Amino acid sequence: MTIRGANLGKVYHKPDSWHNTLYADTEKGYTIRMDLYYFCVFAVFAFGFGCCIASFLNVCIWWLPRDESVVRPPSHCPKCNAPIRWYQNIPVLSWLALRGRCANCHEPISVRYTVVELLGGFLFLLAYFQWAPAFFLGQRPPIGLLPIACMWAVPVYWLVFSGLILGSFIDLEHFYLPDRVTIGGMLLGVPLSFGVPELQGETERLTALYWSLGGLAAGFFGLWALSWLATKVFKKEAMGFGDVKLLGAIGAFFGPAAVLFTVVVSSFIGALAGGVLILRGKAKLGGLTAVPYGPFLALGTVTWMFWGPRIVNWYLHMHVFTL
Ligand SMILES: [Zn+2]
Repeated sequence: MTIRGANLGKVYHKPDSWHNTLYADTEKGYTIRMDLYYFCVFAVFAFGFGCCIASFLNVCIWWLPRDESVVRPPSHCPKCNAPIRWYQNIPVLSWLALRGRCANCHEPISVRYTVVELLGGFLFLLAYFQWAPAFFLGQRPPIGLLPIACMWAVPVYWLVFSGLILGSFIDLEHFYLPDRVTIGGMLLGVPLSFGVPELQGETERLTALYWSLGGLAAGFFGLWALSWLATKVFKKEAMGFGDVKLLGAIGAFFGPAAVLFTVVVSSFIGALAGGVLILRGKAKLGGLTAVPYGPFLALGTVTWMFWGPRIVNWYLHMHVFTL
């Protein structure tokens, strides 16, 4: 079979690789580059899967903080209660097709649902980009992303993104981090580090397990001690206990270095965001008591997952040259 005009690049001859065998020996110059083809197909899948998972997370963001004994009602418009059909509930696409309005009463639908779906899609896609270019194309990941060698790290990254999206958006609305995310993360991080040692930057399972337990202890007890101290010094609660548990989970997944990195980067981003709010007159200095910290911790963690050790290296080298 030949596909004329579908030559997506030069013809590859790597008969030992499974993804190049299908069209490798067809007519010269009209061979589809199967490695690129599979790379793109799975990229579309990763993005779509991320949107679908985030669409489910939208439901959880609504449902978890409310009474959990309440049976989840089938999807309906909050304004007119008209049921939402399955084809009106496809992530992102339905919102675009309906132009952001209910099909029945034409009241606008909150853009937050679509934002969460797109966020999930892009995060899942970026984690895929950390692994797939080396596997399919023998190339480095784009935009300086840290490469992932082990395929199984990608679904673990997806799981972490899901937890962080769930925690962040509940924290933004209700000012607390659910135990299912924080304690669940602490309980899952340790066995997953043993199963996928690359999460801790290790190849040995047992070493990864030790780093995971060390990270859990550093995140949980370290920040517990720090927040206890800060409460004594500032005479008011400096950090919620949910944040402490979330840092324990981050440590269990990515180790003590990730905890330190996340604390530093999230305070930096938090200070920037606070500064912007003060400059725009939306908040006063010393009056920033009701800002949830969970989303900033999530931003710090995602930064670690995508670029962490790179940024640390760059920072250390920058200082070597200035000293
Ligand atoms: Zn409606």
